Amino acid sequence: MRAVISAGSNMEDSRAHLARVAAEFAPDLVAASSVYATAPWGGVDQRDFLNQTFIITLDDAPSAPRELLARCQRLEREAGRVRDVRWGPRTLDVDIVGIEGVTSDDPVLTLPHPRAAQRAFVLVPWLEIDPDAKLGGETVAGLVDKLGPLEGEQEVRRL
Ligand code: ATP
Ligand code: CA
Ligand code: CA
Repeated sequence: MRAVISAGSNMEDSRAHLARVAAEFAPDLVAASSVYATAPWGGVDQRDFLNQTFIITLDDAPSAPRELLARCQRLEREAGRVRDVRWGPRTLDVDIVGIEGVTSDDPVLTLPHPRAAQRAFVLVPWLEIDPDAKLGGETVAGLVDKLGPLEGEQEVRRL
């Protein structure tokens, strides 16, 4: 099965942080999007983010989703991530957008990611690498249309 990962950084060398995520998932990589510069989300005044989306393959063992979360969190730790302000600046954030065929309302790992459908910085890079992508029964293309003009908090620029 496939999983979709969204990584973002707006501290230190963001390109280098994203490159480490790409290296971690290289053995399982189906596709990596371009890097996008995006406006910060959640109302905290901070630098623009760099965001990138990855599609990877995942084995279908029941433990695979939690192992993938642990891998994402290890990358965050290795980037020296400190958690202080919610939705504030961070060296690296690595989220699981969704895993094919898996839904979960566990707060430790909610699938699909409950806020992904409202985030241009997740949807637009994903659409670039999978024009037929679906999230929670809706097409990603349709979800992007629903967001309306990609301005302000939803601004995304392909680099
Ligand atoms: P947001 O969830 O709105 O993107 P965030 O990424 O800043 O916010 P974090 O502080 O990185 O939030 O993560 C908080 C918790 O979310 C983590 O401890 C993790 O267990 C949990 N979580 C739940 N679902 C997911 C998911 N799909 N991907 C990553 N983390 C998740
Ligand atoms: Ca996040
Ligand atoms: Ca996160």
